[in-house]
Amino acid sequence: MFAKSRARCVLLLFLSAALSLISSSAHAQRTSLKPGMNAFSPQQDISMGAKYASEVEKQSPLCNDPKVDAYLTKLGMRLVDHLNTFGVKYPWEFHCVNDKAINAFALPGGYVFINRGAIEAADYEAELAAVMAHELSHVALRHGTNQATKAQYAQIGSGIAGIAGSIFGGLAGAAISGAGQFATGSVLLKYSRSAETQADVMGTQVLYDSGFDPRAMAAFFEKLNSAQAPPEFFSDHPNPENRVERVSEEIRKLGGAPPDAQKDSPEFEAIKREVMALPVAAKAKPAAAAAAVSGIPKAGTVKVSPPSKKYAGLDVGAAKLKYPDDWKKYGDSNNVTLAPDGGVVDNGRGQAEVAYGMMVSVAKLEGTPPAGQDALQAATEKLITSMEEENANMKITRDPKEVSLNGERALSTFLTNDSPNGGQETDWLITVMRPEGLVYFVCVAPREDYNSFSGAFTNVLDSVRFKR
Ligand SMILES: [Zn+2]
Repeated sequence: MFAKSRARCVLLLFLSAALSLISSSAHAQRTSLKPGMNAFSPQQDISMGAKYASEVEKQSPLCNDPKVDAYLTKLGMRLVDHLNTFGVKYPWEFHCVNDKAINAFALPGGYVFINRGAIEAADYEAELAAVMAHELSHVALRHGTNQATKAQYAQIGSGIAGIAGSIFGGLAGAAISGAGQFATGSVLLKYSRSAETQADVMGTQVLYDSGFDPRAMAAFFEKLNSAQAPPEFFSDHPNPENRVERVSEEIRKLGGAPPDAQKDSPEFEAIKREVMALPVAAKAKPAAAAAAVSGIPKAGTVKVSPPSKKYAGLDVGAAKLKYPDDWKKYGDSNNVTLAPDGGVVDNGRGQAEVAYGMMVSVAKLEGTPPAGQDALQAATEKLITSMEEENANMKITRDPKEVSLNGERALSTFLTNDSPNGGQETDWLITVMRPEGLVYFVCVAPREDYNSFSGAFTNVLDSVRFKR
């Protein structure tokens, strides 16, 4: 596919900068990791995490057993003492969730939630420490807001404007009006496979440095993986390829598991018994599950009207344009979604998704393309690659073709993706290189309805007037 043919291009979109964080040395030396690109400050991680932690506490049944929380805090802090937080002081909180599903999650800023199911599934303390070290590594590497940063720039398909808008509300200034403010579990906790590998590698180092048997990391995940049904953990933390091999490799780099490394403790066994005796909570919602995005309809429940023939004017920062006057406007000028009533839907996973409408956004560019490489093409390929990474079923159906947009050279690409309303959608992507970065327009409609919207999409694009 074309997106792969120039995988080595040096022109980096802002959003892709987090991709290659693992740099291993030729010598057997521990892997060095650092946080990826992030549009948010560590302070924002903390304030955002605190806000969502209080929502999670309201919505999830907690174990409410001070002994268990005290134990988790003690174990957690022992691991934190050996965690590189890159100079950031996180407030660290550890909570037990009364949910039998094997899961654990950490919100940005250090709010860690561990399901009782994860404690019960651990055969010895080092396995529980492994899950916690993995979660702590997500916090230290700031994967939640790194992921949100990527989503802000690659907002197509699953998530689109609603993600950044509904999660970051006032924080990033991209509030999507009408959409709820709470969408934990969508972007902040949806990690990429490469983030999973990083959390495994760093978590293995933390285990090793804390005196725990680092082999517990691989052992626990291997156990989860061989379970009959995939545990809930893998829905937020996708199982990376070669997980066990990568962890073993890191242990070799660390010099092997020390013979005196700790596997278990009487304290863990006592806490596990305590947890197993806790009454099961009435009906545990998945602890990290997103709340419904309030104020917008559920996917597939609303009939969307054909676009109005009348147009309204809009300044989107990089350009002015006209759009059907019955469409609503979401987001801010650098990141706007225009959609008919019912076009932005709650996908049932706490995310606002665009089923019908169009988005206008700018991807910031880093660096310059190598001599001889076409900047627009290279940036477009990067953008499409990042969109494909965010959307498993997204595919190019028509390769980029040169077109003209308001006299500027542009690329027109057609893609297909899962529609939040079910079935497939058509995504028409137009990219233009401008001083602000790669300006891109994404027009979205379910495949069967695309023809009734394509005229409006073309009219909007024809109306675009870049600022000179
Ligand atoms: Zn993970």
